[in-house]
Amino acid sequence: MFKQITIIGLGLIGSSLARVIRARGLAEKIIAADGSDSVCEKVAELGLADIVTSDIRQSVVGSDLVILSVPVGAMSAVGALIGPALHPGSIVTDTGSVKAAVAEALGPHIPSSAHLVPGHPIAGTEYSGPEAGFSTLFEGRWCILTPLPTTELGPVEKMTRFWEACGSMIEIMGPEHHDLVLGITSHLPHLIAYTIVQTADDLEGDIKSEVIKFSASGFRDFTRIASSDPVMWRDIFLSNKEAVLEMLQRFNEDLTALQKAIRRGDGDYLFDTFSRTRAIRAQIIEQGQADYRTSDQVRQEGTPPAAGLHTGSDLSE
Ligand code: NAP
Repeated sequence: MFKQITIIGLGLIGSSLARVIRARGLAEKIIAADGSDSVCEKVAELGLADIVTSDIRQSVVGSDLVILSVPVGAMSAVGALIGPALHPGSIVTDTGSVKAAVAEALGPHIPSSAHLVPGHPIAGTEYSGPEAGFSTLFEGRWCILTPLPTTELGPVEKMTRFWEACGSMIEIMGPEHHDLVLGITSHLPHLIAYTIVQTADDLEGDIKSEVIKFSASGFRDFTRIASSDPVMWRDIFLSNKEAVLEMLQRFNEDLTALQKAIRRGDGDYLFDTFSRTRAIRAQIIEQGQADYRTSDQVRQEGTPPAAGLHTGSDLSE
């Protein structure tokens, strides 16, 4: 599909891409570039690419596809480095979890001879680094493309075929709409998980140790989400500020309503609310987006997921 693909940032997502590109023969040559020497050493040791380098600018020379898989806050600096070295006609994409800020950060650095097609695979786990990746991560998961108004159709179609070849289903939408949708489906749930775990951590003495002991009653799932990479999530909240604050405002209002219902003993309100939320879960199951295996399960079982069964956590995206 491509002659030479450069992947910049070989963490969970970048290394999973390197694996699936190789497994499905999507490029003749893979170049892996990372700012960290220890990551480069690990990538070379795992044999994930044909060339591994920490020279970010040089890594894109001659590539017809360049994928930026660094934290959102690093996109602008990487864009400035690679812009002058991009091959005319090449496609530049990214995997960042926020789209309006990334388009703004990358847009000015990409020359008009190259094509910018931002993207976001809705697949992930709470782990990071090149060892955390696996080739089936994108299987059966959505990938959202957010082309700019100036992006030509050809490169968008090519990226659609690329992500389909990685196992994903494609949706195209505007960056602001993406950020609102992900604000409620991913960013707010992470914020809530970080808060609950922090609240438990602030408890004292016996009660705190019992929280850990009896964590299987619900708390445990929040701790998994709240163990997600701090750099990645700091950058997401700082770059999707408006959408997250809007969703947080709505959430606070709904929480206050539930608080009032509990205080007043309004069982009907609680029952109606919980019945509505149960119906949402039923819709997610119906659309085949409920079942997943964590990366731990995939590793333990050693086999890729069956069709329609998803890898990655529902929330670490
Ligand atoms: P990750 O595992 O932390 O990997 C990021 C890699 O980029 C690290 O090796 C990091 O090196 C490197 N890096 C950081 N700054 C750099 C720079 N300026 N130049 C070159 N390399 C640099 O992150 P990830 O989970 O793969 O996420 C990558 C991107 O995909 C993020 O934008 C994230 O929002 C998005 N995403 C993540 C998920 C998820 O669930 N994890 C899902 C979908 C999309 P150091 O570690 O040394 O800094």
